[in-house]
Order: sequence, then structure tokens, then C-alpha cells
Amino acid sequence: MNLYELTIKEAASLLGKKEISSKELTRSVIDRINAVENKIDAFITITEELAMKQAEEADAAISKGDIMPLTGIPMAVKDLLCLKGIKTTCGSKFLENFVPPYNATVMEKLQKQGAVIVGKLNMDEFAMGSTNENSGFKPVRNPWDLSRIPGGSSGGSAASVAADMCLASLGSDTGGSIRQPASHCGIVGLKPTYGRVSRFGLVAFASSLDQIGPLTKNVSDCAAVMNAISGYDPKDSTSVPKDVPDYTACLGQDIAGMKIGIPVEYQSSEGLDPDVENAVSKAVKTLEGIGAECVEVSLPHTSYAVAAYYVIAPSEASSNLARYDGVRYGIRDKDQTDLIKMYRSSRSDGFGQEVQRRIIIGTYCLSAGYYDAYYGKASEVRTLITQDFEKAFETCDAIVSPVAPTPAFPIGQNSDDPLTLYLSDIFTLSANLAGIPGMSVPCGFSRDGLPVGLQIMGKHFQEEKLLKIAHSYEQATDFHKKKPSL
Ligand code: GLN
Repeated sequence: MNLYELTIKEAASLLGKKEISSKELTRSVIDRINAVENKIDAFITITEELAMKQAEEADAAISKGDIMPLTGIPMAVKDLLCLKGIKTTCGSKFLENFVPPYNATVMEKLQKQGAVIVGKLNMDEFAMGSTNENSGFKPVRNPWDLSRIPGGSSGGSAASVAADMCLASLGSDTGGSIRQPASHCGIVGLKPTYGRVSRFGLVAFASSLDQIGPLTKNVSDCAAVMNAISGYDPKDSTSVPKDVPDYTACLGQDIAGMKIGIPVEYQSSEGLDPDVENAVSKAVKTLEGIGAECVEVSLPHTSYAVAAYYVIAPSEASSNLARYDGVRYGIRDKDQTDLIKMYRSSRSDGFGQEVQRRIIIGTYCLSAGYYDAYYGKASEVRTLITQDFEKAFETCDAIVSPVAPTPAFPIGQNSDDPLTLYLSDIFTLSANLAGIPGMSVPCGFSRDGLPVGLQIMGKHFQEEKLLKIAHSYEQATDFHKKKPSL
């Protein structure tokens, strides 16, 4: 077996026993990146020098017996997490040369654990998208079929893990951007509860929805990364001062008697691919087979989720992105002598089409006279969606559903049709609107051999329950063991 194929748990055990060094492991991962990156385009920056230095430091720490679960483990992160001294583009030409002078809190936490960072991952510009075709640099390709999208916006984060170009990665999820690419690439992805992981140093898209989370090869690695990145941070006023449990402790616990909710509204969802439907209903049977009790629940406001999200997210984005004016950040059109013209042309040159579209929608929704009709109304709908979940969780421990209505589709198929893409977020957006945790675990393959994910959602701060269910399910199946041939 090649070292780059290891899971975090396997690698950590070999590192602990000193059977391998982090330098060997990191070398193997970098060689793997060099071998397959031209097919996938998962990275915006490969940080080989930094990685080899961190691997050496990790080996020194391990030789002193100073080892934590991520010490010496090669990981990569979505290119919207500030890493001091390393270019952080957020997938945008606007920030093509932006080098942050500070670290995101999650980067500090990974470094404290002794993790090795092999690179910054490709993504849809400012995390807006679900196919990675909105990257300001190049689209990412799905390792299972290079002509298809990997999902998005954390497409690089998912494709890199699926293609063994890192042992695990971090992504961000505003409306599904961890879960949906994890589903399309056949790996595990978790969007934590809003406030569980600090957003400090994450380039903001829609601040009331954004959360950082892990993408990993299996559930136990997901729990290990959650342990490392979770917790209160005084630098993020929305992070919650709540103790972080040991997320690995619940793995292996019996799920017999747990109640799993199946939303009736999701079953009748238009456009649900029969292969996805089939894989998800088989997954439900498997859960029943291992002792869970499945019950019907209702989320009556589901059909309003897409509309509410696509008012709230662009509104917040239009405000967050106002800072990119050519003065303080990123590129500037130096030929302009007039200030307003300089703002206008810098923003027109620096932002891609989808980002400009959302800024226009958001600015419109927030403008005087329209605010109540759009942003105000969408916020009311958001409350109703949150209440739907509260009510549903009175009768179940977790809710399962598809992640995306279809498996990964060909690159270019929907790129001129933003509405179709927005509608494809139907199963994932509600968790962000309600702030609850949600994860994706591999649950099968389409007839074309493309991975399909099962979504599991839970109450606020009940990530442990999700991990426990996902782990039991994973033990009963072997979808997570299959790898794309590259
Ligand atoms: N696809 C959604 C969007 O385009 C979600 C993106 C995300 O979660 N960052 O907004």
C-alpha cells in the first residue's frame, strides 16, 4: 500500500510506532499530488516547502513523545482560510496576490496539533457555486470521472481527498459546500453547528451561514479533525462557549433504538434522480437493519428554502464583498484617475460573473424600500424552517435525506443555468438556515459508477449523534473503501 492512501488513524498509528516518519509520508503525498494534479486541478497553491519543514518539526516532536492525533498528518485547506505568509485567493482573481499577515483560528489549531499543510485548495470564487466551475482560475475535475464536476464550492477539498492528494482537508459550507462535494466525490464531509468552529480568518461569504468543517476518507478521521478544530474563540463573536466533547468517543456505540426521521417533503422532491433515490432508500434499510427505527417527519417549509437562501446569502455577500474596492485589498485598476471609476473597473475586472450577479441581487434586496419585502421576509421564512426542524426533532434523533438530487454531472452541463444550480441545493440549504449540523457519508454508486452520499442532520451541537450513526452505517457498508482509478 502507498503511504498516501492511508487514513489519518492508520497514519497516526504508524507514526506513533515510528514505523514511518512524517517526512516519508509527506513526501509520498507530495509525489502523489505531482502525479495526478494535472488531471484534477484541485490545488491553487502547493506548499511543498512549508510541508516538508512542518514534517521535519513533526518528526522531531514525535521523537520526543510529543504526539497528538494530527501530528505529522498531511492535510490541505480550502483557499479561503488565511494562512500566514501563503497566498490566499478565495478562488478569485481579485485576491490573486493576497498574502494574509495572520492565521485563521483553524489554521492555528491545526498547527498546534502539528498537522502538515501541503496546499491551498481550488474552489468556486468566494465559495459561490456548487460545481467549481466558478473558480477564477480553473475548474476542478471529479476523480471518479474527469469529465464531470466534483461539486462545490469546496470541490478542491473533496477531490483532493478522494484522489489521495492529502489525508484530509478543510472546507467551508454556507449552503452545502462541504456535504455536496463530499457526496459527489465519495468521501465523508461534515458541516458543524453554526458557532461550533471559529470563522476567524475565513474569507466571509454569508456570515450567518458560513461554517468550516472536515472532509475525510472515513467517519473516524472526521471525528479526529472535529476534535482539533472545534471550540470557542473570542475572536469570533458568533462562536459558542460550549465544551467540546471527544468526538471519537461515541464511535462504535450501538445505534439500536435510535429514531431516524425521513422527511416526507424530500421524498416527493422534483428532479430526484432514481439512482440517488435508490441508494438513499437502501441506506435507510441498512440503518433499520442495524437497529435504528425510521419514522416519517415533516419539514413543511422546505419548498421555500431555496428562495430564502438565495435572498439571505447574496444580501450578506453584497455587504461582505463591499470591502473589495481596489483600495484595501486585491487588484486595482491603476489606469483610472477617478475614484468611482477605479472602484467600478477594479470590481468589474476582479470579480467573476456569478459573484457580480450575487452582489447585484444582494444589493437590490437590501436597498431602502425593498428590504422588508425581501431580506425581512426571507428572515421570517428562515425562522419557520428552524421551527420545522425543532418540531421534527421532537420525534426523532436525526434526519436522513439525499445530499444532492443527482450524481455529479458533466462539466459545462448547467454552467449557463444558475437557476437549475440554485435549485439543486434543495437538500442542503435548510441546515445552514437553521444552523444545525449535517454530514454526508458515502451510500452507494449510480449506474455510471458515480458516488452518492447520504445526508444525516441533527439538533444543534449534536455532532456526536451524527458521527455515531454515520460510523455504524459505515461499518455495515463498504462504499467508503472504493477508490477512483486514476
Ligand atoms: N451552492 C451554494 C451557493 O452557491 C452553497 C455554496 C456554499 O455552501 N459555499 O451558494
